[in-house]
Amino acid sequence: MSLYSIKMRASTNQTHISGAEKIIPYDQIGPFVNQLVQRGMHHPKGNPDSLNLKIETIDERDILYIEALPVRTIEVGSCRDGIEEIRKFLLSLGLAHPDNILRFLSETYAMRGAILLDVDTLERLEPDGKRGVRATYMDADRTSGGPSGNGKDHYAEAIVLATKVAHAPNLIGEICISDDPDYVTGYVASKTTGYTRITKMKELGSENGGRIFLYRGRREDVAKTISFLEKQPVIVRNIQPLEVPTHAIDKFSFIDAALQEMQEAHLYRSLKTVQSAQSSTVQSHGREMIMMASNSYLDMSRVEEVRDYAAYALKKYGTGSGGSRLTTGNTILHEMLENKIAEFKHTEAALVFNTGYVANLATISALMEKPDIIFSDELNHASIIDGCRLSGAKTVIYRHNDMRDLEEKILANPCHKGLIVSDAVFSMDGDIVNLPQLVQIADRYHLLSMVDEAHATGVIGKTGGGIVEHYHNTYRPDIVMGTLSKAIGSEGGFVCGRKNLIDYLRNKARGFIFSTSLSPVTMAASYKALEFIEKNPQRVTDLQNNVQFFCDCLRQRGLPVSSDTGIIPIIIGDEEKALQVSQELFNRGYYISAIRYPTVKRGSARLRIALMATHTQDQLQRAASAIVQILKEKEVLPW
Ligand SMILES: *Cc1c(COP(=O)(O)O)cnc(C)c1O
Repeated sequence: MSLYSIKMRASTNQTHISGAEKIIPYDQIGPFVNQLVQRGMHHPKGNPDSLNLKIETIDERDILYIEALPVRTIEVGSCRDGIEEIRKFLLSLGLAHPDNILRFLSETYAMRGAILLDVDTLERLEPDGKRGVRATYMDADRTSGGPSGNGKDHYAEAIVLATKVAHAPNLIGEICISDDPDYVTGYVASKTTGYTRITKMKELGSENGGRIFLYRGRREDVAKTISFLEKQPVIVRNIQPLEVPTHAIDKFSFIDAALQEMQEAHLYRSLKTVQSAQSSTVQSHGREMIMMASNSYLDMSRVEEVRDYAAYALKKYGTGSGGSRLTTGNTILHEMLENKIAEFKHTEAALVFNTGYVANLATISALMEKPDIIFSDELNHASIIDGCRLSGAKTVIYRHNDMRDLEEKILANPCHKGLIVSDAVFSMDGDIVNLPQLVQIADRYHLLSMVDEAHATGVIGKTGGGIVEHYHNTYRPDIVMGTLSKAIGSEGGFVCGRKNLIDYLRNKARGFIFSTSLSPVTMAASYKALEFIEKNPQRVTDLQNNVQFFCDCLRQRGLPVSSDTGIIPIIIGDEEKALQVSQELFNRGYYISAIRYPTVKRGSARLRIALMATHTQDQLQRAASAIVQILKEKEVLPW
């Protein structure tokens, strides 16, 4: 049977633009001719003024079938490293003086073919020194599922060429750098080393490409080598698809490294799954547990009236709000909630944000900007820190709840406009800001004052009114921020204060303007919860009593703790140990989180216990016993 060799060569003024060849059966001549003509006529280097197409028959019995050289890729960062890899290749072929050979590279730059270099005498053996030696009559085997033959597979063409060259008599290897200015990857190849791609052999934009065939043998055999290269039809089988090594293209390697680092430092975070409503007991990982980590201090999410009202809102308004508050997302429930918050906090007005996090981000960044100065407690919540960063204002950190330090820092950093911002109840320590002094200092220095009541609303103050009520309604910060996601048991953040502040935020706070508003369901839940708390102040008292009872239980068992909020931290220090203790508590049915860096300082890992109004005294006693016992077992407690 006959096969056909097709060769295409396109040129302008005798200079080569592109060329390609195939060995194919008769019935494929048409499509391939078409393809090669397309390729030759539309080359990025320019349109040719002449295109030669040559079709010849080949006797199938003359064809030599060769297995493709195995391929590997070496990633290098620079051409210098690329050249170093060529040196190593030459050394591996037993050539002791690679530089003698590398010198010839520049001589090949303008040539169409390759230099045929005698590696021992360093003589050039090609008969035509301008043209060089070229390998032709070759193709990839398309029957063995190799390259598709779409006419553009430069990689497969390079493997075919290199495989043929590597099998030529007396050739011990090949060096190849493309002259395509956009292509910096080159290769070295030999029967012994296979085909090695080297990702950088020249600078991008350079046309200095070239080829050297490395000859070792008798002078009288050169003709045999050249004849093989130029006449022997070869079909190369089993070309493996190009697989760039994963490390080379792994855009995500920094992610794996970061994850591994976190794991080694016991700072990796994973999720636990809760399979029931957030309450004093929950179903988790297939069993009932006592929940002592939730910020749902008043257990509102279990209150029938709250759930019923949310269900009513769901029926009436559906699930989503369809747009930001300023477009479609404002319902009567949103407005009712804001009025309710303002009433609950005894301020002129309130504005609801999608989360407490966003409330801080949006409010601080709307109020403060570049020349302004923000004075921020060192233990403030991450959302305050991020809001300060986003604002662009200078942020001065003062020592935790240290009003003398605050005042000194204010004196050292005079400004026209500024803000003092603090958690009301510190989220990881459970202590309370010195509001009277903070407000007085702010007024004295004409600074705005802002407190974050995430853990204060519904928790402190006789009726759960928060920080202002805690200090007997004597001192009021200018800006009160809080969340609906903790004691209120729902979702969302809020800011309240005077009317012009709220008007300003409604117009300026990007986190309010550019985000779809919370659904009416959420609004309804928050609204009813606030109403419930107003009507049932006993709920707040229950929480406060539980905290005192539980602290008593722990103290009786030898653990010196105290708290006036819903949060009772037990400092352990070491991150790994804190995790172990938390896990052991978890195993015994107590859901208590270990808090680690970056939520708290490194080396100050802790159990953060958060109580609910609905925990029973029996549950609290049992939990206290379990905690103390495990702390002893893990040798956190010294006795
Ligand atoms: C939880 C918390 C927030 C964020 O509130 P979300 O509604 O959960 O986004 C902000 N500030 C403090 C102090 C918090 O504890």
